[in-house]
Amino acid sequence: QAKSEGRSDYCYFSHDLTEQALERLSLETQLRTGLEQGELTPYFQAQVDAATGQLLGFEALARWHHPTQGMISPARFIPLAESTGLIHQLDLCIIRQAMTRFAQWYRQGLNPGILSVNLTMRHFQHQAFLDTLQQLLAETGCQASWLQVEVTESQLMAKPEATIEVLRQIHDAGIRIALDDFGTGYSSLSYLKRLPITKLKIDQSFIRDLPHDEEDISITRAIIALANSLNLEIIAEGAETAEQVAFLLSEGCHQIQGYYYARPLPADGAEVLMSDSSHTTRQADQLQPS
Ligand code: C2E
Ligand code: MG
Ligand code: MG
Ligand code: MG
Repeated sequence: QAKSEGRSDYCYFSHDLTEQALERLSLETQLRTGLEQGELTPYFQAQVDAATGQLLGFEALARWHHPTQGMISPARFIPLAESTGLIHQLDLCIIRQAMTRFAQWYRQGLNPGILSVNLTMRHFQHQAFLDTLQQLLAETGCQASWLQVEVTESQLMAKPEATIEVLRQIHDAGIRIALDDFGTGYSSLSYLKRLPITKLKIDQSFIRDLPHDEEDISITRAIIALANSLNLEIIAEGAETAEQVAFLLSEGCHQIQGYYYARPLPADGAEVLMSDSSHTTRQADQLQPS
């Protein structure tokens, strides 16, 4: 009896696995097609100087408008793209569209600021990756100084020595480099000093429970102090409330990205933010410590 129960469990389990594998395979095929059909586009989330309300730039975030399933979250398709190698094509597809949009905005006399793009670490293991970026700049009409690449701390610290040379080339070409999701990836301090990076992005998991969680307060303070001592810029991501923004300002972290200011928006929504910065200025006035 126990044996047959065990067997049926086993069958059930294996049936489930097959279903999962099939679903994954089908999503992979659809992602491949979706990339070819232009179903993936960048949304833009504002980055703001909380002290002045000034719009500093936008982070481009991939969105997949699936023809039948509607909007699919990056949490579902980025890991899939990473594990299948489609991430190369996906990253370039998003960054090309985002750069084209930025060049257009600058030509129109708008001031979108800096464009931040997410890149998987694998790109930096290719010696010629700077060439790829420079071709994209030339093709889209963007300037290197408008661009910032974000790479996650955990990916970078997994193999810092394999990427440092390419990162340096990119940095020397005038492109900014930010360490994303900082605080979650066990940075070695000696690497942090040597890496050609310009900015740390405090991971949103530390911001979520500010200013109430004592541990998060300590971690946030420590990251800000670390950035200051290494002469790096600092930005907090995931700020949703006025309280969080006020706390970050009082701790000396002025650059903020979060729903408090704006959600990731399609291009036309980002244009509204650029041409009417009163949203951000008004809120900053109320927060300004007197
Ligand atoms: P990330 O680069 O750390 O981006 C920040 C994420 O936090 C975004 O999620 C953004 O929508 C979300 N966020 C920003 N402010 C708030 C807030 O106030 N509250 C909350 N709850 N969330 C906030 P999203 O767009 O779902 O992207 C998830 C991750 O997927 C990104 O994390 C990034 O690692 C990856 N990703 C997105 N687009 C691309 C891409 O084009 N290429 C690559 N390689 N990765 C991408
Ligand atoms: Mg990012
Ligand atoms: Mg992040
Ligand atoms: Mg993240």
